[in-house]
Amino acid sequence: MPSDPLVARHVLEFPGGYTRTTGPVIGRFLSELRARRIVGVRTKEGKVLVPPLEYDPMTGEPVTGEFVEVGPAGTVTTWAFVPEPRPGHPLDRPFAWALIRLDGADTALVHAVDASDPTKVRAGMRVWPVWNDRPTGHITDIACFVPEVTEIVADVRTEYRLQAGGALRVFLRGVERGVLLGGRCDTCAKVYVPYRLTCPECGSAIPETLELPDTGTITTFAVNNLPDPRAPEVPFVSAYILLDGSDIPMIALIGDVPAHEVRQGMRVKAVWVPEHERTASMANIRWFAPTGEPDVEQP
Ligand SMILES: [Zn+2]
Repeated sequence: MPSDPLVARHVLEFPGGYTRTTGPVIGRFLSELRARRIVGVRTKEGKVLVPPLEYDPMTGEPVTGEFVEVGPAGTVTTWAFVPEPRPGHPLDRPFAWALIRLDGADTALVHAVDASDPTKVRAGMRVWPVWNDRPTGHITDIACFVPEVTEIVADVRTEYRLQAGGALRVFLRGVERGVLLGGRCDTCAKVYVPYRLTCPECGSAIPETLELPDTGTITTFAVNNLPDPRAPEVPFVSAYILLDGSDIPMIALIGDVPAHEVRQGMRVKAVWVPEHERTASMANIRWFAPTGEPDVEQP
């Protein structure tokens, strides 16, 4: 006849701590940690064990007693992600337990890796220790490991004065009047916009300006997800536009259309700022907007 299981709850606890001796090898390891150094011990075969052991786990031979400083950086060899830390864990936020092979060591040490995004922890990741403020000679003297610094964020500002040379001045004076000026090479007949003094293809002089329409076709484009003060919204599109009658495209913003609807071959027209706001600047063109004409077949 089945009977109810008999269950008793046991707790094994040493309030105030359980004292044990470390022995010379672990003792040296912990003393070095207190001095913010990490050491391993060399085996008779020349391998460096970190953390050090009294016996080589592969051969059972006593180790040599030669201590070798390793790290402090190392490489994650494998890891387990802890999404919800428990009370005894070294960190109170999601982290990863990792096996870390410190530089100069042949074995890996288990420790916590604190990454701003712990899901990005991966094998091969380089990590550095973060030391506790008051080391006591315990493995927790290393508070955790953190990813190696691979990037920094710095404010960048460049201020410069651009003086428009001959051809650019001509072009911008045109833009001031609401006109896009290009030029046709006398020799190869290519039409360039903005206007330039010589043909980049054959080197011939381009003597005269040529007025181009402010309509064209998108040849290629990029969807940008970083804000830009000139752009209509985020994401926005910057595109190469082949103005009608021109042989090389010019780059411009695309507006008045959701980014995902922009396509190669789309017909567009410049959207100019009101006349009283115009200056000798490309800012006169707010962006190019679709005309609604049928797309143009790409060459
Ligand atoms: Zn030419």
